[in-house]
Amino acid sequence: MTDLTLPDRPEPPEGADDVWLHCIECGHALPPFDDVVFTCPECDGLLEARYADYPTFDDFSGEGVWRYAAALPFDEGVSLPEGNTPLHEVPRLEADIGVRNLRVKHEGMNPTGSFKDRGMTVGVRVAEELGVDRLACASTGNTSAALAAYGARADLETLVLLPAGKVAAGKIAQASLHGARILEVDGNFDACLDRVQDLAARGEAYLLNSLNPFRLEGQKTIGLEILERFRDEEGRFPDRIVLPVGNAGNTAALYKCFRELVHAGALAPGDVPKLTGVQAEGAAPMVEAVREGNAETRRWDEVETIATAIRIGNPVNAPKALPGIRETGGTAVAVSDEEITAAQRDLAGEGVGVEPASAASVAGLRKLVAEGEVSTGEDVVCLTTGHLLKDPDAAAAAGRDPEDVPNDTDAILDHLAGKDVGGGLFGRLRGLL
Ligand SMILES: *Cc1c(COP(=O)(O)O)cnc(C)c1O
Ligand SMILES: [Zn+2]
Repeated sequence: MTDLTLPDRPEPPEGADDVWLHCIECGHALPPFDDVVFTCPECDGLLEARYADYPTFDDFSGEGVWRYAAALPFDEGVSLPEGNTPLHEVPRLEADIGVRNLRVKHEGMNPTGSFKDRGMTVGVRVAEELGVDRLACASTGNTSAALAAYGARADLETLVLLPAGKVAAGKIAQASLHGARILEVDGNFDACLDRVQDLAARGEAYLLNSLNPFRLEGQKTIGLEILERFRDEEGRFPDRIVLPVGNAGNTAALYKCFRELVHAGALAPGDVPKLTGVQAEGAAPMVEAVREGNAETRRWDEVETIATAIRIGNPVNAPKALPGIRETGGTAVAVSDEEITAAQRDLAGEGVGVEPASAASVAGLRKLVAEGEVSTGEDVVCLTTGHLLKDPDAAAAAGRDPEDVPNDTDAILDHLAGKDVGGGLFGRLRGLL
């Protein structure tokens, strides 16, 4: 049975005192840094970090992810630094979609351009603690970019497994320049994750996918930043957080963030934001499970979407994330690639440049408001997970086409005035006269 409640009197296992690992399926508890484990040694269930004490907002100071050290297993980590991302106002989009408040938490503003950096600053710190010498991940792109950068920073060997031909150009460029060994697997993301889990199980590499419970500890700080910032600006917490869902790591991390705050008495149960997940229609196993009320997701073998970062058919964190959506009163929705691209343009029109997967949150919110599932009186934060430059091809395809003009100011003015003197036949004739 999945049990995500936090005990009133936490009992650390022998050999641990402040922090330990807890199996969400069988309750087995183990010291955090004695052995390299990713899932429960008893039942193979998902593990999560547990603490003897949970902080309130008064316990935080400083900036970025490590502001929240009191909620993390260490006081500092391998940092570039990360976090402290903007919570944008988007007034035109807010009016157009029609909710009371719409903010955009732009995680593309992290050092390597996605929220994955928040997980890596903690995860790579743990790798140092364990004394491993090779880091590895499977990735749709952004995890590999983040791991390559943080691995380089920590001076550790880094291996990334990518689905051949399915990773956006900016992300491969990052992994490559930061010096990761890039293995392009003839298979999709889920196949890459199977392979890297095998490598980890054979002791060949330390796994830094979101299956690693410490990654999610770092990603909790997205929730902490949103709550603090929104409360400072509006005097209350947001009603709902809408986010793109791939492996559902962020959904699980945000839910854990809320549970810990409630446990510490820092957040009233009634103030917990409704977690609302958005997937692409071509890769929507979480939406299927939420809509059908299933306790587990069904693995989708064929997945396709323009939003390559969430092109995932077997979300590994579903057992942690499904209760999060359910218990917070949230929901999940699937959007088409056309809706994703339209939302990417809408955000860009407010000056916020995001990659396609990120725009899914805004596309999903628009759909839920239109369907009456989200009320117009709500305060909503949409998470945008990655930067526009991650996927330059998608951005160029969604944006305006460049126009050819001659090297001549008058001709350029004519062109701007709508006279066709550009690269067309007339322009070339004019050049001959
Ligand atoms: C990793 C990623 C996601 C998916 O996040 P999960 O935590 O796996 O659900 C969404 N968008 C972008 C840009 C990502 O890099
Ligand atoms: Zn177990």
